[in-house]
Amino acid sequence: MALFDSIFKDIGIDLGTANSLIYLKSKGIVVNEPSVAALNAKTNHILAVGDEAKKMLGRVPPHINVVRPLVNGVISDFEMTEEMLRHLLRRPQTHGMTNAMTSYRRAILAIPNNLTEVERKSVEDAALNAGVAKVYLVESPTAAALGAGLPIMSPGASMIVDIGGGTTDIAIISMGGTVVSQTLKTAGDKFNEDIMRFAHDEFHLVIGEPSAEFAKIAVGSAIPLDERLEVPIRGRDMASGLPREIMMKNTHVRAAIAKSLRQIVDAVREVIDEAPPELVGDILQQGITLCGGGALLRGLDQLLEKETGVKVVVADDPLTCVARGLGQMVDDFDAHRELLDNPLRPLAINLG
Ligand code: ADP
Ligand code: MG
Repeated sequence: MALFDSIFKDIGIDLGTANSLIYLKSKGIVVNEPSVAALNAKTNHILAVGDEAKKMLGRVPPHINVVRPLVNGVISDFEMTEEMLRHLLRRPQTHGMTNAMTSYRRAILAIPNNLTEVERKSVEDAALNAGVAKVYLVESPTAAALGAGLPIMSPGASMIVDIGGGTTDIAIISMGGTVVSQTLKTAGDKFNEDIMRFAHDEFHLVIGEPSAEFAKIAVGSAIPLDERLEVPIRGRDMASGLPREIMMKNTHVRAAIAKSLRQIVDAVREVIDEAPPELVGDILQQGITLCGGGALLRGLDQLLEKETGVKVVVADDPLTCVARGLGQMVDDFDAHRELLDNPLRPLAINLG
């Protein structure tokens, strides 16, 4: 059995729109890299994946494409997703051996809540083609909730809000199943776009997405802050075409992302609205748990708390909740069968 385990590995895969994580059974998280791939458009050859590819974003000659294959929340480029996955699975740290001949016995893949049957099939195929023998799908918020330590198998309600790059996934889970959920395409990437637009409209400055993201993380918040935060941001002046630097303040970022934050708040309220009354009572007691990189935005918990009247907590290490949840399942398959055997059961209420 020990030999078998050392040759055939079980893994958990969180293919996020911004970051991909791989959990290797009894090892932990072995891959945590941006979901980015760079390819030569002339030869269709993959040049780099992950960290290396992200560094190339916005800095490459025209014949090199740097793409984020999952950027629209659902997989928007299946071929590239498969290639990316293949590359990540080939990394030495992923198979724990020096040769790449390892087979993956089983993989548990976290997928967005509201994929169609066809989309689910394509995700499964991507993993099978990348070298996994058997694929199990689990809804990403379920894995996130497990990773955040919520009692998802109990009859009470666990409410999780996962703010990633491309999507915000909101779900109420009870007894291992999703009761109400909503996925919206307003999340971290949209904040970045908002900040780029703000720089354009207010400062007549064209800035790149990496700069916008940097500003968001350095000085952004969801509510007014006591401290004064500001950071220099460089871009191209629209009139002169020359480089120029501005000071991006917390108030700027807040103004830029206000509308997107409002959409997230509204969606959270809608999901609570749709929940059966008994579960609403549970949520009042249990609170809402935030995860995903967006959960790190300063004061987001306080904004949601104020707007919903429900206690909001940010999960520990919010960027790895899904991967750690998958890890629990991978480490003890049998204890989590219930979550895996029936991944395609229809949702009771699905808000879109
Ligand atoms: P996904 O699951 O879609 O891959 P992640 O959960 O990895 O997404 O989160 C990525 C998003 O989180 C990005 O948009 C990133 O800019 C954002 N993010 C990361 N850290 C912070 C932070 N400290 N403040 C605000 N946003 C952050
Ligand atoms: Mg995610």
